[in-house]
Amino acid sequence: MNVIDLHVHTTASDGTMSPAELVRYAKGKGLRTIAITDHDTIEGIEEGLQEGSKRGLEVIPGVELSVDYSNGTMHLLGYYIDITCTELTDKLMVLQQARAERNLKMIDKLRALGMEIDLAEVATVAEHGQIGRPHFAQAMVKKGYVQNIPDAFDRYLRKGGPAYMEKFRLSAEEAIHVIRTAGGVTVLAHPFTLNQPQPHEFDAVIGELKQRGLEGIEVHYPEHSEGQKKLYRDVAQQYGLLITGGSDFHGLTKDAIDLGEGYGDGELTHTIVEDMKSRRETRRKGP
Ligand SMILES: [Zn+2]
Ligand SMILES: [Zn+2]
Repeated sequence: MNVIDLHVHTTASDGTMSPAELVRYAKGKGLRTIAITDHDTIEGIEEGLQEGSKRGLEVIPGVELSVDYSNGTMHLLGYYIDITCTELTDKLMVLQQARAERNLKMIDKLRALGMEIDLAEVATVAEHGQIGRPHFAQAMVKKGYVQNIPDAFDRYLRKGGPAYMEKFRLSAEEAIHVIRTAGGVTVLAHPFTLNQPQPHEFDAVIGELKQRGLEGIEVHYPEHSEGQKKLYRDVAQQYGLLITGGSDFHGLTKDAIDLGEGYGDGELTHTIVEDMKSRRETRRKGP
């Protein structure tokens, strides 16, 4: 088997498997290559790389950064990043701090709304991973303040809801710059979340990102329709961008997409990995 999955999360962010477990799971499923792309953190990379070399699975060090984008959600993937690059680690530290502050502010808001929830309770729900709104929702369900998770989001946690706090985000330009400084290749993740169904509008967004240093588009993704894939592929080709893909695997939860599945992996060959690697190498040798 030659399956390549370039978008995978571990317990370092919001996945359910530790990096080592994930590597063993991928190996067991017969995958050839995975990229570990946790949200705003590279804490799982070292362990993943080590287990990968032990088990004979190719592991690409990556990261997924959430960036500021008013029209929808924009995530940028960084591949082949140097995890010792201080500009990168400093930036990630800023993001972690902002996340911690945001969590405290959301606790304050919940308290002001009469819900006695503390951060330790939310952290328990999140186990050891990053805390996010779904964990707040679970803690609220546990305490009986809401019926279920969708109810928690509808009434309190949705964007603009009474317990919602805006997240601090990097600009796309800053994110691309830091990935590039760390020697990485930047790819736009799951473009459907940009909410740009009009080809000319999507094209304009990509044109702008390309000018800032974007190098690829994640065309193959479980939630992309054939029509969307075609649009993303066409625009990628037009701008000379790499075409990547992945499952966005977060673990074996109910109804979840499994590792290495759901994104048309047949069309994704190892050439893409070679292409990314050679881009990185050329840059290293460059002036
Ligand atoms: Zn994402
Ligand atoms: Zn993801």
